[in-house]
Amino acid sequence: MARIYFSSRHSGNFGDHVGDDPGLVSRRRSSLARALSVPPIAFMNQVHGNVVQVITEAPTSAPTCDALVTSQRGLGLAVMVADCIPLLLTSDVAVAAVHVGRAGLVSEISLKAIAIMRDLGAHQIAATVGPSICRNCYEVAPHMYQEISSQLSATATNDLLHSLDLVAGLRQQLGSQVVDFSDLHICAKESSDHFSYRREQETGRQVGVVIL
Ligand SMILES: [Zn+2]
Repeated sequence: MARIYFSSRHSGNFGDHVGDDPGLVSRRRSSLARALSVPPIAFMNQVHGNVVQVITEAPTSAPTCDALVTSQRGLGLAVMVADCIPLLLTSDVAVAAVHVGRAGLVSEISLKAIAIMRDLGAHQIAATVGPSICRNCYEVAPHMYQEISSQLSATATNDLLHSLDLVAGLRQQLGSQVVDFSDLHICAKESSDHFSYRREQETGRQVGVVIL
């Protein structure tokens, strides 16, 4: 049975690219691994791309990618976010941690991660979405709204506000590829317990961690 975990801002910042003391970030990452009883957790150098990396052991340095997949039991995979969707995919034989921002949704990185999980033997895949910006808070430029909502109709909310519903878009995109889709329904921007790039600009990153 795979395990999943989502941090709040009370566990501190896990991002090593947001101006925080690297020593502190590294210590927080180590304590999280100890708390979850796993070896060093695998983090990514996230770039809003659509590269999926399969790993079999905790890497010594973070690979540049936006999704990690493993079929190795007891290994922790982390995705860092502050508004983007932390998507954790679970099954009996493989798991994935996926960074789904607007770009990742458009480039279908989640479907790519699912295809790789299937190659590793996964059948019944469940999706869990952690704290991310909600449909009322994610206003974008009108042309961007038109472009994305015409590709994925579920992202459309209000043609006057131009606010995108990324979670609904993800749910639509995953469709029958997943047997279950759970959403924590926590808006990072509205929750004082979470980091939010839209609310704070200079801010930390919370994490979603999945362990097979
Ligand atoms: Zn919101």
